[in-house]
Amino acid sequence: MEIKNVGVIGAGTMGNGIAHAFALSGYDVTLVDTTKDVLDRATATISRNLDRQIKKQKIDKDKKADVLARIHCSTDLAAVKNCELVVEAVFESLEAKLALFPRLDNLCPPETILASNTSSLPITQLAAVTERPEKVIGMHFMNPVPMMKLVEIIRGHATSDDTYRIIHDLCVPLGKTGVEVNDYPGFVGNRLLMPMINEAIFTVYEGAATPEAVDTVMRLGMGHPMGPLTLADFIGLDVCLAIMEVLYDGFADSKYRPCPLLRKMVYAGHLGRKTGRGFYTYE
Ligand code: NAD
Repeated sequence: MEIKNVGVIGAGTMGNGIAHAFALSGYDVTLVDTTKDVLDRATATISRNLDRQIKKQKIDKDKKADVLARIHCSTDLAAVKNCELVVEAVFESLEAKLALFPRLDNLCPPETILASNTSSLPITQLAAVTERPEKVIGMHFMNPVPMMKLVEIIRGHATSDDTYRIIHDLCVPLGKTGVEVNDYPGFVGNRLLMPMINEAIFTVYEGAATPEAVDTVMRLGMGHPMGPLTLADFIGLDVCLAIMEVLYDGFADSKYRPCPLLRKMVYAGHLGRKTGRGFYTYE
């Protein structure tokens, strides 16, 4: 099956980046969200990010016009009914995704592949609420999508070899590298990254060091481009907590317990960059 039309559900941080990446590689994209307002903001973000690529001489103005013309926005989920691939990027809520997958399953032809960009939720569970579990797969892009080269490809319990191969091959024209991962909590990226961030938060919680000290140790000592607490603010502390809960529940192992300070900061609404305050403050 040749993929030409890609549906992207959710036009937030990840959805607009995923739409950008597919349209840049010549796919026609249908981008769906719940309001026109969100879709207008997504299109404005894509336009700004394309301008950045022009400035860096990665694309020219004609390419920008081509990319924008390939992205069709809609508030009606049925707009994706002719897509060969649909990538879901709605909120990280199992309830929301479990409600969405049967709707996509009903709308799309049986050969359409349904992918989820979830950071941590079980692909096997999303697949099980459809009539096509062999065609459900995780396609976990990294943020910011236009820049990051990795796609974690998560095989659910029933994902077929054919579906895996199609998605793996599709990463090549996107300029990304797909890495095969099995469906266990946190997959690989977040299973390694989040406990490191959580431990960095424990270090501050226990008074072992300040956030600045922790970040400097990891940047200068370990060669990380960004310290773990700066990264946590960038990702969003609510997202970090949600992923730690998935690891803690999924493995039923106390080594994944979320740091009480992380939980307290989330309760306080200090979620990082997006609320102007986390481990650091932002304008
Ligand atoms: P976000 O909150 O920025 O965007 C989610 C969007 O989904 C919102 O615009 C919302 O209006 C829309 N939405 C919700 N329900 C919908 C529905 N039923 N139909 C259509 N649109 C709907 O979230 P995000 O950060 O882009 O995350 C999206 C997914 O990507 C999550 O599963 C998240 O775990 C995953 N992810 C996020 C990151 C990250 O760094 N933010 C990285 C990798 C993966």
